[in-house]
Amino acid sequence: MIAQSFEYSAPDSIAEALRLLASHQGSRVLAGGQSLIPMMKLRLSGPAHLIDLARIAELNYIGETNGSIRIGATSTHNQLATSDTLRQSCPLLAEAAARIGDVQVRNLGTIGGSVSHNDPAADYPAALQALRAQVRLVSQRGERTLPIDKFLLDAFTTALEPGEILAEVIVPADAPGLGSAYLKHQQPASGFAVAGVAAQLGMKGGKITTARLGITGVASNSYRGAAVEAALEGRPAQDSSLAEAAGLAAKGVEALSDVYAAADYRAHIAGVMTRRALQAALARAK
Ligand code: FAD
Repeated sequence: MIAQSFEYSAPDSIAEALRLLASHQGSRVLAGGQSLIPMMKLRLSGPAHLIDLARIAELNYIGETNGSIRIGATSTHNQLATSDTLRQSCPLLAEAAARIGDVQVRNLGTIGGSVSHNDPAADYPAALQALRAQVRLVSQRGERTLPIDKFLLDAFTTALEPGEILAEVIVPADAPGLGSAYLKHQQPASGFAVAGVAAQLGMKGGKITTARLGITGVASNSYRGAAVEAALEGRPAQDSSLAEAAGLAAKGVEALSDVYAAADYRAHIAGVMTRRALQAALARAK
């Protein structure tokens, strides 16, 4: 199908984008277009005015200062996957970015677009939950910074308010010795996660000191694997601890069901992928 007609603007500053957003009713920002354009073609979305963020240079960067990595919203999945800063200081996020879609999607799609879209099977949310990321939102009213848990509200629903743009994602640089891994069991046709697990582990003296987990694809919203984290911290850093804790991956979660994966199968796969992600993270922890 062909999208309904719309006005198009391509501002070159955040201030101008915010002015356009506030002054045009029915306007919507466009980033990589990898989710929004298909929705417009299917007429699931019909914005009257598209405000393209692609020419705003001040939204495209990946940089590290004082132990925090700041990623501008229009940084593409490919920029994240190949970033030396991320590979060195936050490899979990680079690994998740590399697992998104195909080359074309990774070259066009952006972290800001993905997080704002909040598809329940998207890859970034799991990594960002595990990393305890924050997002910085800007509007003509000012700016605010939210923890990722408070931003991702439910399937295709975020805390973004009218007139707001997600400007930046902030993640901590890894503390020395942490090991991490992102693994997903993907739907064979779409490549989206049936269960995607981001894990980060730290150990000392043979015991697990840090356990952080984010899980996507399993429920209507990505979530922190809090029960798994609690079951791991202080336990011996060995396979039996990981396997036992992984059994809690979908505890208390209402798993999604579709033609590819029934709810009980999806919950089971969440446990399998959690165990594998924990094993990979532990093998990488020093
Ligand atoms: P757009 O499509 O331009 O925008 C998406 C939504 O976010 C729109 O509502 C838009 O208004 C809003 N928005 C965009 N940027 C901002 C901003 N800075 N502030 C506020 N609102 C904003 N994703 C995965 O996670 N894993 C996959 O395996 C995967 N496979 C895919 C395969 C295909 C074939 C395709 C087409 C897509 C796939 N995707 C996958 C989705 C892809 O990651 C998209 O890039 C992403 O969901 C949206 O990012 P975008 O930059 O393209 O945003």
